[in-house]
Amino acid sequence: MNPVDPIARHATHAVRIRNLMVGGTAPVAVQSMTNTDTADEVGTAVQIAQLHRAGSELVRITVNTLEAAAAVPGIRERLDQMGLDVPLVGDFHFNGHKLLSSVPECAQALDKYRINPGNVGKGQRRDTQFAQMIELACRYGKPVRIGVNWGSLDQDLLARMMDTNAQRADPWDPRRVMDEALIASALDSATRAEELGLAADRIIISCKLSGVQDLIRVYRDLARRCSYALHLGLTEAGMGVKGIVASTAALAVLLQEGIGDTIRISLTPQPGESRTREVEVAQEILQSLGLRAFAPSVVACPGCGRTTSTVFQELAQDIQRYLRDQMPIWRAQYPGVENMTVAVMGCVVNGPGESRHANVGISLPGTGEIPVAPVYVDGEKTVTLKGETIAADFSRIVDDYVIRRYGQTAN
Ligand code: SF4
Repeated sequence: MNPVDPIARHATHAVRIRNLMVGGTAPVAVQSMTNTDTADEVGTAVQIAQLHRAGSELVRITVNTLEAAAAVPGIRERLDQMGLDVPLVGDFHFNGHKLLSSVPECAQALDKYRINPGNVGKGQRRDTQFAQMIELACRYGKPVRIGVNWGSLDQDLLARMMDTNAQRADPWDPRRVMDEALIASALDSATRAEELGLAADRIIISCKLSGVQDLIRVYRDLARRCSYALHLGLTEAGMGVKGIVASTAALAVLLQEGIGDTIRISLTPQPGESRTREVEVAQEILQSLGLRAFAPSVVACPGCGRTTSTVFQELAQDIQRYLRDQMPIWRAQYPGVENMTVAVMGCVVNGPGESRHANVGISLPGTGEIPVAPVYVDGEKTVTLKGETIAADFSRIVDDYVIRRYGQTAN
């Protein structure tokens, strides 16, 4: 169950992708992409399962070789055997027309094809090969994402537009020509796809750039000029904090304006970091904006000179991890639990107040305060914890609350 969407969404066509609706009035969906070799059937199925269990509602896989295409039906079968009905998107560049024609089982097993108009082929072959892919999408009843990327923009189109610009009495800024080329590449390809028989409610568009302001500018224009469902993401966002902040800055502005029907966070994982991080970040963005709720929120103060120990930081982290870990089970057993708020506060200054506003809150003792931790449930102080077992006792209180409050909803 999602909270009421407070943001008026840009009106787009609703697209069915297997069991998932994207666009229209559907909630903004979270997408992710594998980084395994798709020809590695087991490894890819395992990573898709991890991404899906972490909350990815559709997963994109690279289909770049005959071996990769041949592995796709087996990947689908393995996911089905695991009971995972996650839609699979095939990402094609350069040879998609050949792969989809040569391996019909792959064309059938995929739930959506991603076509990059800049990487479909050169010259006249571009049109033929693009048409081949659209015809296959029509034959197998699959939606298509026309995904333009500024790093692989159709160079012929850009050159033509630069020439036209040079003829203008008052030429545009080259950046404006680039924006226009990106949008024209996407929209012209979508129009061509419709002419070839693909319905508008089978088309999703993306125009990805790596600059925050560039992405915002292009998507605002794109949203103004079409009603296709839009996939949103800052391409090559980068690593760690930089990638997260840049993606959040760009996507938050657009989502707040109702632009975007699916999102993906293109994070480069840190060495050893799980691929599921990008799913977590996408969910946090949507949840922070109040567009979706995926897991209970933890409100924690930053700590200051009043907290000389790390007890409250550790408790906040433990609780956050505990709540996330429980979600795969809780989601099914306790509907609505994703809207719960838990406060973990460091001292008496803001602790009781913030705790009262949460479903369950604890105000830990700051330096010099009596070593006790009052707990608040639905705004009422219920118990005061003390001693070494505060963390365990508080987790139990949260557990009891979830069963009592959300278990009743389920019955
Ligand atoms: S609640 Fe207390 S410990 Fe936390 S930041 Fe505020 S004053 Fe500091």
